[in-house]
Amino acid sequence: MRNFEFFEPTTIEEASSLLAQHNGTAQLLAGGTDIIIGMKARALTPECVISLEKIPGLDGITYSDNEGLRVGAMTKLREIEQSQIIIDQYTALVEGAAEVGSIQIRNLATLGGNICNSSPAADAAAALLVLDAQVKIASTDGERTVSITDFFLGPGENVLQTGEIVTGFEFPPQPANSGSQYLKQKIREVMDLAFVGVAASVQLDNGTVKDVKIGLAAVAPTPIRASNAEATINGNALNDELLNQAGTAAAAQSSPISDLRCSADYRREIVDVLTRRAVQTAATRAQS
Ligand SMILES: Cc1cc2nc3c(=O)[nH]c(=O)nc-3n(C[C@H](O)[C@H](O)[C@H](O)COP(=O)(O)OP(=O)(O)OC[C@H]3O[C@@H](n4cnc5c(N)ncnc54)[C@H](O)[C@@H]3O)c2cc1C
Repeated sequence: MRNFEFFEPTTIEEASSLLAQHNGTAQLLAGGTDIIIGMKARALTPECVISLEKIPGLDGITYSDNEGLRVGAMTKLREIEQSQIIIDQYTALVEGAAEVGSIQIRNLATLGGNICNSSPAADAAAALLVLDAQVKIASTDGERTVSITDFFLGPGENVLQTGEIVTGFEFPPQPANSGSQYLKQKIREVMDLAFVGVAASVQLDNGTVKDVKIGLAAVAPTPIRASNAEATINGNALNDELLNQAGTAAAAQSSPISDLRCSADYRREIVDVLTRRAVQTAATRAQS
């Protein structure tokens, strides 16, 4: 690992100005489970590392029936996995968080880190897409909010500008008769990156699907919504034929790569299968 300067700011403003001052040569440090690995491998060689640990108010989970859910960027994935309100109402997020690494990793890894690292395979990303998350961003210039659907730009790239820091994520209250699921396909049973991840959320209205959202991970340059599959289902009663059509549409909208782990064709097949399963399970959960 190369030598670097280490800063522990205590306010967002201080962290943001440090980031701006060291533009292009600084890395923010949250749980460190992505960047420390990168620095050890010398894939990342920052001249300065800025820890977010000492900034108050960046972690924690709050919920109200009116406002919905707020999860601070520094909230550990393990805390999300164990939150009863998220288990009950934002189930795909719990399932995404619980898929990351091991318990040891999730005790360090943060939701902000998982999203800001912006890997196409990030396990929490597809859940954020189907749960309508808004990303809260702050800098010395003020605050802004970006929909998660607009946040990712490419592998490892996102909309954050110089000096900007993600402070948290907001999720609207989940409507009545709704449910969600995240499913991950990996090669090794224990601790492996997704080669396909699919999340779905479904809202039912008298037996028909009022609103479905489908999020795909690891099968495009960024996590994406499978909007064609959603359009196939919306406004209809779910049945096997419709699920088959949605699976086919989701697979067609994905653009996976072939690599050492599996071929693009195989990934497309798995998108098809997991889309059908995730939508079906989300619908079943919406009824309970
Ligand atoms: C053994 C192992 C297994 C893993 N398995 C998985 C897996 O199965 N699925 C998966 O999705 N990931 C996996 N990961 C990757 C990693 O654990 C997650 O991406 C984790 O959520 C990253 O969070 P962190 O807090 O550790 O981020 P860090 O490493 O601290 O930061 C990651 C990146 O995000 C930036 N960043 C962090 N917080 C902010 C913020 N608030 N605002 C702006 N930028 C910020 C940092 O500058 C850095 O570029 C694994 C990692 C390891 C080491």
